[in-house]
Amino acid sequence: MQSQKLQKIDFNQEYPCPCRRRGRLTPIALTEAFGCNRCQQIFVVQDNGYVIEQLSTNYPYKRAWRWTGNQWNIAHSSLGRGYLPLTLVTIFVLVFLLLLTTLQSPLSNSVTFRVIAALVLSMMLVLMLWLVCRRY
Ligand SMILES: [Zn+2]
Repeated sequence: MQSQKLQKIDFNQEYPCPCRRRGRLTPIALTEAFGCNRCQQIFVVQDNGYVIEQLSTNYPYKRAWRWTGNQWNIAHSSLGRGYLPLTLVTIFVLVFLLLLTTLQSPLSNSVTFRVIAALVLSMMLVLMLWLVCRRY
């Protein structure tokens, strides 16, 4: 998929900052981290030296980058994000099945009604969860 070979991050080297302020990343002494001289962000080296992760308190998830030799590529290693669609689908199916078997309607006993009601309710729940997750 990627034609550019990933390079290990060298602590004796300076890198451009992945921020858009043309900052420079300089190694922070005695740590496995780099600091930017423009945005004041700290980036911790992870994944055996192939990934830098932004040290941030603003986001529950971390943004990460990989060095390709001349630029940073966004790495999708941040926790949970790749699993979110799968998690939502799983929750949707479980809730749907649960509702389908437990839902009792005082108005109608028809199976179609139960299926539709279960479908709508589980979709609403998953949509709410998705909106909550998306905010982070
Ligand atoms: Zn920066």
